[in-house]
Amino acid sequence: MKRITILGATGSIGQSTIDLIVRRPDLYEVDALTGGRNIALLAQDAVRLGARLAVTAHDDLLEDLRAALAGSGVEAAAGSRAIIEAGAREVDWVMSAIVGAAGLAPGLAAVERGATLALANKESLVTAGPLLLDRAAASGATILPVDSEHSAIFQALRGEDMASVERVIITASGGAFRDRPMDALRDVTVKEASSHPNWAMGQRITIDSASMFNKAMEVIETKEFFGVEPDQIEVVIHPESIVHALVGHCDGGLMAHLGPPDMRHAIGYALSWPARDELPLERLDLVALGALTFREADPARYKALTLAREVMASGGLAGAVFNAAKERALDHFIAGHIGFLDMSDLVEEVMTQSQGRNDVADAEITLETVTHADQVTRQALDDMIRARAE
Ligand code: NDP
Repeated sequence: MKRITILGATGSIGQSTIDLIVRRPDLYEVDALTGGRNIALLAQDAVRLGARLAVTAHDDLLEDLRAALAGSGVEAAAGSRAIIEAGAREVDWVMSAIVGAAGLAPGLAAVERGATLALANKESLVTAGPLLLDRAAASGATILPVDSEHSAIFQALRGEDMASVERVIITASGGAFRDRPMDALRDVTVKEASSHPNWAMGQRITIDSASMFNKAMEVIETKEFFGVEPDQIEVVIHPESIVHALVGHCDGGLMAHLGPPDMRHAIGYALSWPARDELPLERLDLVALGALTFREADPARYKALTLAREVMASGGLAGAVFNAAKERALDHFIAGHIGFLDMSDLVEEVMTQSQGRNDVADAEITLETVTHADQVTRQALDDMIRARAE
């Protein structure tokens, strides 16, 4: 029996994880579930899965959670400290699926305890990759990638020698606006940006896919997780979202990973790793697919990809600055304060402002320095938006 904790259980990845777990009660046992504002779903899943603990990130929702769990025997807790404690509990496998920088500390707690961490929260690697990997090396924890591209690379690399790897290619669907001319992007709405052509995901990552910030994060994630050089990482647009990533070797061979656009593949692979279990996924019919197409990810169109290259060149806390600026710009876009293209302009402006500050490029990466850089950057972005409005 594998004992499991799911951080971010009420979200898209959390729900897909639960979907797989409930199918195999003979294999998996749930210890703790965490969520945010969706108390009804958190309590319902905690009860039906027989969890010991349910945690909401919000202190003010503790009484609601207690009420929803009354009589079930499931313990309730609340607050960011309680989420970190949930991550540190004695289990075999932890899913890190909180959205945003808030996912770093609880995932780090799981790694420090030596758990196997299934990592969907890409923000952890972008903001603090070296910290997470160092702690895992020290405790003997295993980190398994859950982002579909990184799971694909991980699978394509199985049994290979990293020394033979020449390049890594990650694919991007191009998101909601891949076929729209640049001029038409200025006035797109939040609703339009929140609809993905191929994948069903949480709202934030869906908008990040449309702006290509998601792919920018994944490029940095690739560098951090697999230890490849930035110039070995390529991005291509692949509208069908069937090939998730490819690994190119020094003999010219390319190992590709193909699958339907369904996150349950990457989650299921991490659940059963190092074995493979049967998964309830569509089997690809290549003849019905007919053709798979690829095109250039034009850097002039996707500023986020260029910014990712700057983050990798800078190192230090540049990833924390980039992520915080991106998260805050997204908050403002969702709230209707700024336009779609303003997001990358503002992130660029914040990054330019932080460049050359030795508390960014040369800083040691710790939870404290990352948290500080995150807070300072969010404030800087808010100030910029206020100044623009005046
Ligand atoms: P969702 O928005 O669907 O879910 C996010 C989860 O995090 C919810 O459980 C939410 O709770 C919880 N949450 C939100 N804010 C906080 C907080 N401050 N503290 C603690 N918990 C919080 O996101 P996704 O499932 O789409 O994505 C999760 C992560 O996985 C992200 O890092 C994303 O980039 C990554 N990822 C997602 C993919 C996908 O297909 N969705 C694919 C690859 C990676 P509540 O809803 O109850 O408020």
